[in-house]
Amino acid sequence: MTTSAFPTGTITGYPRIGRRRELKKAVEAFWAGSVSADELEATALELRRATRARLVEQGLGKGDSSVPETFSYYDQVLDAAVTVGAVPSRFAGLQDADGRVDLAGYFTIARGVGDDAPLEMTKWFDSNYHYLVPEIGEDTHFRLASSRIVDQFREAVADGYVTRPVIVGPVTFLALSKAADDAAEGFRPLSRLADLLPVYEELLKSLKDAGAQWVQLDEPALVSESLDDARADVLAAARQAYDRLGSVSDRPNLYIAAPYGSLDDALPVLAATGVEAIGLDLVRGGVPTGLDAATAAALRAKTVVGGVIDGHNVWRGDLEAAFGTLESLLALSPNLAASTSTSLLHVPHDVEDEPNLDARLKSWLAFADQKVAQVATLARGLDDGHEAIQEELAQASAALADRRVAPGVRDGAVRQRAEALTDADFRRGEYADRLTAQDAALGLPPLPTTTIGSFPQTGDIRRARAQFANGIITEAEYLGLMQAEIKRVVDLQEEIGIDVIVHGEPERNDMVQYFAENLDGFAVTQNGWVQSYGSRCTRPSILWGDVERPKPITVDWSTYTQSLTEKPVKGMLTGPVTILAWSFVRDDQPLGETARQVALALRDEIADLEAAGIRIVQVDEPALRELLPLKAAAQPDYLDWSVGSFRLATSGVADATQIHTHLCYSEFGVVIDAIRNLDADVTSIEAARSRMEVVDDIKASGFEHGIGPGVYDIHSPRVPSVAEVTELIERALEGIPQRQVWINPDCGLKTRGYDETVASLTNIIEATRAVRERVSVDA
Ligand code: GLN
Ligand code: ZN
Repeated sequence: MTTSAFPTGTITGYPRIGRRRELKKAVEAFWAGSVSADELEATALELRRATRARLVEQGLGKGDSSVPETFSYYDQVLDAAVTVGAVPSRFAGLQDADGRVDLAGYFTIARGVGDDAPLEMTKWFDSNYHYLVPEIGEDTHFRLASSRIVDQFREAVADGYVTRPVIVGPVTFLALSKAADDAAEGFRPLSRLADLLPVYEELLKSLKDAGAQWVQLDEPALVSESLDDARADVLAAARQAYDRLGSVSDRPNLYIAAPYGSLDDALPVLAATGVEAIGLDLVRGGVPTGLDAATAAALRAKTVVGGVIDGHNVWRGDLEAAFGTLESLLALSPNLAASTSTSLLHVPHDVEDEPNLDARLKSWLAFADQKVAQVATLARGLDDGHEAIQEELAQASAALADRRVAPGVRDGAVRQRAEALTDADFRRGEYADRLTAQDAALGLPPLPTTTIGSFPQTGDIRRARAQFANGIITEAEYLGLMQAEIKRVVDLQEEIGIDVIVHGEPERNDMVQYFAENLDGFAVTQNGWVQSYGSRCTRPSILWGDVERPKPITVDWSTYTQSLTEKPVKGMLTGPVTILAWSFVRDDQPLGETARQVALALRDEIADLEAAGIRIVQVDEPALRELLPLKAAAQPDYLDWSVGSFRLATSGVADATQIHTHLCYSEFGVVIDAIRNLDADVTSIEAARSRMEVVDDIKASGFEHGIGPGVYDIHSPRVPSVAEVTELIERALEGIPQRQVWINPDCGLKTRGYDETVASLTNIIEATRAVRERVSVDA
């Protein structure tokens, strides 16, 4: 333990991809072989230096541990895994005698190679960030196998900083891991906690040796009620972990951050351990009340870090209220600090970096750098009193008041239409009738094949879009290029033998931004990139006002596509929940109300598609599960409005029109009732990466509508063989009646190259034909 106090202002974490996505570019160049490992390391070093300098410039302290070290080449959970030597056995060859992997090996674990599949990827709590899922077995050999965390701290010290190293805590690390394939039935990674803790202990000691005053352990698992482990087991693990790490004699102070919700019954557990500071997410959770006497007494001796600045959204917000919340924490402890509710990983770098955003809108916003400044302001208020920051608080309040009355924020016609809705607007005909009508209208073979929508986004496509946006080519030229691309994709699908055709989405840079650009009430950014996973970034739109569709969006593209083929073309839309989840959404009304407005715009679009002769429409809702509140008590209301908005969007069609939906993940079991309630005719989900594990859930649930469990893992450049796909299809058929099964990839193909796409789809069709034959012979 050290005696230094926790800084009064800090942040949980900062974006690491770079203001101009420098890290993305360098990492991808390294993968492509055009820069060396040393060059990549040099770029990363430069970025870390720029980040530290920027954070100090925005008001964090240089020498007081307030700057967190949250750099990662790919993912913080993967970082924790390689730090503790938890490398799956199929990648053991990448480790040296001490269990270390080099940079190339690190990326191999993330991305797979040959037949060795990468770690699975899944959503990080209720955010749109994806982490890699470590695989832990009875034999996983935990040992300190990386010095990167210590090295980066030393690198900061050499530049004159005392920063705060950050690592995913041991409880969250194990709770988010999955059992290795060779582990015994029922094995839980959390049972290995006692073996893992000595590694954290050793790491803490080395950080202490290097001069670290504070170390941050991220333990969001402690706020979640949506883990595979029982809550009691998680709490017991937290007690065990922090009793042990808290009693290490020669260590830095420990700060346990618990973003994405309230700690609830985990707070007394942490308070009873020897950790020095506890972070509370006060955006998602409230100030804890009703604490027992022992917890209250224990907390008074610790620092309570109030996460009052929203790390998850871009609004400037009510700074006065945030300061009030901080002050109310005095009831818990005299030692307070201001922070963000979560890492700023979820927001772009800098509002000032948006030359094209409306100035009025900009004055309502705060991106990462502005949020750091807000934290610094609040810290000054804590140190010097309310008066010292009065001006900043008043400015924030004035911006908030301006936002309330600005034109476009509330539109009378939009609101009247939403208010006039009745139950009938949320209901389609009986499924049996729909099935009959659709069979007649579509005439598809058994095990129909399709893709999820997008085809590879080539350099040519991106260039054409950019040239059109910059006025370098005319609209007619752009249209010609896109139509040529669509024709190419349609011909390709015909040639390969796919049954339901897509247009390939070449006109879309992003499945949400495209709709945002075509709907009123949204703004799009220029540099507002946010990391989604690894080197992948998205640019979320800002949903600031009432939503309306000024004119049809996708109809011309879909009808052009249908003019090229006899086969049914699937219209392609993004659903209301996903549009909300992947945008920064207004925080001045319930999400459900905003979702309804988006749903009505989509409902009109679907009606126009149907009227133009499109017989299948897919409404993607990959984010349905990601927005699911981590707390059980908040889930029913969420499921009600999210499912309701999908139904509102899709219920206006005739029985013969087939509605598809696509969900990007495989944790079907958790939201099965919600998926059933969507009442889509066909649902495609991810299943290849987890080798059809999901089939048991589908079987157990008695799901009766069409279902397409993915047979091709599109997150990896690997081409699945015919044998592999055949096996996956056969596995699906073991659990699901053949009448229901559709054959498709896990997700869209936009991030893949053409060669691997063509090879994979060809194998999928060959496998499907073989299975169709087998099935018809059996019958
Ligand atoms: N239709 C989209 C595509 O194929 C779906 C993407 C997604 O689910 N993330 O790209
Ligand atoms: Zn998907």
